[in-house]
Parts: sequence; C-alpha cells; structure tokens
Amino acid sequence: MSNFSFLPRYDIHMRDLESALSFIFTREIVIKKILHKENLERFVGLLVQCFPARPAVNRFLKILHKWLQGIVKDKDRPLRPSALRLFYNMHKADNTSLPENVEWRTCQGSRPQYRGYPCSLWILFHTLTVNCATRGITSLTGADVLARIRGYVKSFFSCLECSKHFYNMSKNVEKEVHTHNEAILWLWRAHNKVNKRLSKEPSTDPHFPKIAYPPKDLCIECSDDRKGHNNTWNDSPSTWRDNVVLNYLKVHYSVHNIRLSESE
Ligand code: FAD
Repeated sequence: MSNFSFLPRYDIHMRDLESALSFIFTREIVIKKILHKENLERFVGLLVQCFPARPAVNRFLKILHKWLQGIVKDKDRPLRPSALRLFYNMHKADNTSLPENVEWRTCQGSRPQYRGYPCSLWILFHTLTVNCATRGITSLTGADVLARIRGYVKSFFSCLECSKHFYNMSKNVEKEVHTHNEAILWLWRAHNKVNKRLSKEPSTDPHFPKIAYPPKDLCIECSDDRKGHNNTWNDSPSTWRDNVVLNYLKVHYSVHNIRLSESE
C-alpha cells in the first residue's frame, strides 16, 4: 500500500484513541467548575466530523454533540460538570458509549507517570487533522480544525504549562494555515518543536527519548539530510521534504492504519 515502514512502538491503536476520549469526558473536563460550553461543543463537533469512530462511539459523539448544541443555544444556561457526568452515565448502559477503562497500548510508558494521556492526545489531534483532509471535509477549513483543537487545549487541557505553550505557539494559526494539508503539516511541526524543547528534560520517559519525527527508520525519504542515523536532535534532519512528510502522515494516521483489536 505504501513505501513507509511501521514499527510497533509507533502503531496507532483505537484503544489509545478511545482511552483519550474516555479520559477527556470522565476525568479531564469534569474537574472544572464551569465548562466553556462553546469550546467543548466545537471540539465535539470536530470529533463527529473527523474522528474515524467505531459505530457505538460515533453514536455517542453525535448524541453528545446535539445535547451540547442545545445548551450553547440557550445563552443563560451554564454547562456544569455534574450535567456532563449525568449525561455520560445515562449512556454508559446502552450501546452508545466509550469504553469505561482507560488503557494504553502505544502510549504505555515504562512507568505510570510517563506517556499515557498526553501521548494519546497528540495521536488524537494528528488523527483528526489527517482524517478531516482525507474525508474531504468542506464545512471546516484547516485553520478551523486547528482553532477547535486550540480551543480544547486552552479551556480543558489539565497540563497548564502545555496549554500555555501550545496556545502561544498557535496564536497566528489563522494566518499561517488555510487548507487541511497545511493543518496536518502545521501540527506535525508544532509537535516536533515540543519534542525538541522536551528532549533535554528529565521528566521524559528514558525508554522513549524525544526524537525528530518521523525517524529515518519510519520514513527515510522524508528528509534530504542523509547524515543522521538515530534522529536525536544533534543529527535531526535539517531539510524536511514537506510533500513526502505529508504523504507519510496521511498514511500513518489514516483510518486504515488504526489497529482495532488487541491481536492486530
Ligand atoms: P508524544 O510526544 O506524546 O507523542 C506521541 C506519539 O506521537 C509518538 O509516540 C509518535 O508516534 C507520534 N509523534 C511524535 N512526534 C510527532 C510529530 N511531530 N508529528 C506526528 N506524530 C508525532 N509536556 C511538557 O512537559 N511541556 C509542554 O509544554 C508540553 N506541551 C504539550 C502540548 C500538547 C498539545 C500536548 C498534547 C502535550 C504536551 N506535552 C508537554 C506533553 C508531551 O508533548 C508528551 O506528550 C509527553 O511527554 C509524552 O511523550 P511521548 O514520548 O509519549 O510522545
């Protein structure tokens, strides 16, 4: 299907993506006192349009979105976490929900404090930018997609340092990005900037050092720079081939590359 290689430690698992969503709706959002209902409605609207969900999850997201739209329309109605919890619990019993347990596959760290949710959030965001493009979504531009991700990060991401950094680095996104392809590349570059900044931090999982992504063993053609071998920042590719990187990301984060079962 493609010329790119895939390594298990970079696999995309539906379990990581759905765990990200479960974490969002049962742990991250509900710790706030009052929820920013417009930003939540826009983010869930993005999930409805671009997340390659299994049918049960798709139903849940659609019902949740409709409910949020109703709350947003009513200007005087605040959205409290208790209402969201109630909504979530109501749908837990039927076949219209997310898995209850948060479990990591690719995002499993070597110790519990490493990787996990932030890793799955990045994978979710890349999956969204790619699938908005491949689904040919016309009701949203690439800038809209990133603005909705930015709104989520600003209002809800519980890592405040991450949220502040990401918010600042994306402040000109509406001028810099127009198309879905540009949004895919913008997010890839932004993620690499974060990887580079964190590469020297001791809080990083020693078994998963931060690298210039994608490494050569995943996509040798992605860079003109043939000197580097191990993709640490000292020998990171200086000249990326954006078109090759774009094609790589579109394959890597496509619906066809998401592992649905444990054995895949
Ligand atoms: P992650 O960086 O989480 O990456 C997850 C997976 O994405 C990787 O395994 C790889 O398969 C893939 N990937 C890696 N790079 C790219 C790329 N460039 N393009 C596409 N795919 C890629 N932590 C801080 O300490 N300070 C911060 O300021 C900070 N800001 C953050 C901002 C956001 C929006 C998010 C979601 C997280 C942020 N984090 C921050 C957390 C940090 O970036 C990592 O998520 C965390 O350290 C776990 O790293 P990881 O090794 O699991 O890989």
